[in-house]
Amino acid sequence: MLKVGQKIKIEIEKIVNGGEGLGYVDNFAVFVPMSVPKDILEVEVISCKKTYARALITKIISSSEERIENKSKIGFEEFDGCNFAMLKYDAQLKYKKIIVEDVMHKLAGLKDFKLDRIIESSQIYNYRNKVIEPFSFLFSPNGEKKIISGFFKRKSHEVFETEFNILNSKLGNKIIKELKIILNRYKISVYDENQNKGILRNVMLRTNSQNEAMLVLIVNVQEKYLKDKNNILFKVLDEIKNKFSEIKSIYLSINNKKTNKVMGEKNILISGDKILKENIEGINFNISPTSFFQINLEQAKKIYQIGIKFLGNIENKHIVDAYSGTGTIAMILAKKAKKVYSIELIKSATEDGKKTAKENNIKNIEFINGFVEKELETLIKNQKQIDTIIFDPPRKGLEKSIIDKVAELNLQEIVYISCNPSTLARDIKLFSEKNYKLKKLEAVDMFPQTSHIECVALLSK
Ligand code: SAH
Repeated sequence: MLKVGQKIKIEIEKIVNGGEGLGYVDNFAVFVPMSVPKDILEVEVISCKKTYARALITKIISSSEERIENKSKIGFEEFDGCNFAMLKYDAQLKYKKIIVEDVMHKLAGLKDFKLDRIIESSQIYNYRNKVIEPFSFLFSPNGEKKIISGFFKRKSHEVFETEFNILNSKLGNKIIKELKIILNRYKISVYDENQNKGILRNVMLRTNSQNEAMLVLIVNVQEKYLKDKNNILFKVLDEIKNKFSEIKSIYLSINNKKTNKVMGEKNILISGDKILKENIEGINFNISPTSFFQINLEQAKKIYQIGIKFLGNIENKHIVDAYSGTGTIAMILAKKAKKVYSIELIKSATEDGKKTAKENNIKNIEFINGFVEKELETLIKNQKQIDTIIFDPPRKGLEKSIIDKVAELNLQEIVYISCNPSTLARDIKLFSEKNYKLKKLEAVDMFPQTSHIECVALLSK
């Protein structure tokens, strides 16, 4: 039996779903984050359960050829909080393909499933159009408090800072860097979650392909504080706005609650436009601070194209875009389809969608704000014509009740976009019990340097 704190030598054999490496010590499974198959490592056990242990790398004894050239970096923090950044890009793709195949074999029950390829990302760094960084502070050698922002350490609420966020857009990085210089000059207090005190909680930054930015500072202040036009936060935001003509929109999001939820309940526009725009297939989308929008634009376009290709001829069809966000897919489909129902939970996203449709003169989308679980059922109950559905749920996948309901519709085909292969595989299995077979599956690398995988599946009766 292994003990916590014990150091052992191990050879890594594979990478499992979730991104950790797996090796064995006397036939006992040990999971090692940030490790690569064929690495021979010295690791320290950090937890030990009945059937497996977890351990962190303390030394690379001999490294896999799939590891990036710089062998001095070993931990999560040294890789800027990216759990696949120790892998060369080709190897990242290789292991993502294996992970998808693995979950399809094990969780979808598709023993012979093979994935042809995973579509690589046009950009492998700086591809994110949105980042959220928590604030914290450090004491500098001369005893002064320095405001930092960055990532949470593994399984902790302690923040570490990297020189640049390797995933954030270059403009986004420049703005956040400058913002911190200004915040440090004004010595604004940092939020302390234990005491629910202090001002600065998070910064959210969105950028678009026109190199424009939206800045949202998430703060713990009373709203009445903002009545004083001379307050420090306004000064900070004014300075940053004057530094970057690219910033088109600035918000303060007020979050006074002791919660892990980032955005506050009130988002107050401080200057510029309410929304940031992004163009996909000639349609200008509206994006508000709280609306979901795919973070890797070029890859999102590929996902949408695959989904639409899977749907085939949609002329004259009535389609449901379930989990529609700001209505990206609905808007593209509406060019050809007869009618699209766009179901989305977050109010701002539905409103953004309505605005986009109006501005782009798209009239055949009905926007429905609510839970897919409920609204889809209502459409069915009201006997609305539904020819096909495109699902794009969050990581937890579909509720079983949705799959049961959809089965009653007797649709020929369903498209399922997923950001989590294991819930996709689980749902494919549930659909198979309703006589739907997986006909096609494409995987797209939306999230280079991380183990996340995006898939598009075509299910057919
Ligand atoms: N298809 C969109 C959004 C996908 S993300 C796009 O590509 O941009 C998933 C979306 O589902 C988010 O906008 C989220 O707010 C929404 N959502 C999450 N749970 C939901 C539910 N139960 N019912 C309806 N929408 C939900």
